[in-house]
Amino acid sequence: MKHPNEKSRSVHSRCTPDQGHCKRIFFKSERYCKLGQLTQSAVHEEGYIKFDARWEQTPPLVGVYPKELLDWRNRLFVHGLIGMLPDGIGYGNVSERLRGDTFLITGSATGGVSELTTEHLAMVEDADASANTVICKGPVVASSESMSHDAIYRATPAIRAVMHIHHLGMWRYWKGRLPTTPDEARYGTPQMATALLECARPLAVQSYGLIVMGGHREGLIAFGPSHEIAGRCLMAHYDAIPEKFTVQGAGYVEGPSDGENPDAC
Ligand SMILES: [Zn+2]
Repeated sequence: MKHPNEKSRSVHSRCTPDQGHCKRIFFKSERYCKLGQLTQSAVHEEGYIKFDARWEQTPPLVGVYPKELLDWRNRLFVHGLIGMLPDGIGYGNVSERLRGDTFLITGSATGGVSELTTEHLAMVEDADASANTVICKGPVVASSESMSHDAIYRATPAIRAVMHIHHLGMWRYWKGRLPTTPDEARYGTPQMATALLECARPLAVQSYGLIVMGGHREGLIAFGPSHEIAGRCLMAHYDAIPEKFTVQGAGYVEGPSDGENPDAC
């Protein structure tokens, strides 16, 4: 039974700045989604990933002020690790576990907002990668990458903060040097969620780490028991990349080199 305020939303947005033509998230108006029946190549050719976002529109959550989340999100924005491309497509997102498997996450299409507030946050109550369903509420729809965050949280209850950023230089340099999801696991797919969980589990002993999303060009995910620890881990790897990689921020486009998979999108 749907709550009166609950709605399925049709929104076109795209998390990734990958190569201009890349994937869009399409929140279908139907409660059903057929992505699970599509092949990887079909998803790629279509250029769209479809999942069902069941969103209950509410005011900002009362009594919740995630200062650390907002501080770190705005800090990552300053570095261009979260942001918006000239074509208006946002990228990057930050989340924080609340209780159980629920978490707070920055909203879809908020990448271009320089100072995020609680008006830009959604609570994910459930995310099911195999069914491509996200159940959320708040003033905005949850980020299109909620399922990736959910996969990381499932590795261990000790993980309480997750950050997803885009940076081509970091992605290229750390790919294969850090735990990396397979190229075949594309953004927004059940395969990516499974691959992220597999990468995060061995790191769960220390409950923090950084994972390269091999099939999601420019994408990396940091996590930890707090935003401070996840953020420090992320920025340490940001500072450690060789100088020749540092000029290549999100959205940087060049020909494939250094073993980069030109088809990674
Ligand atoms: Zn992304």
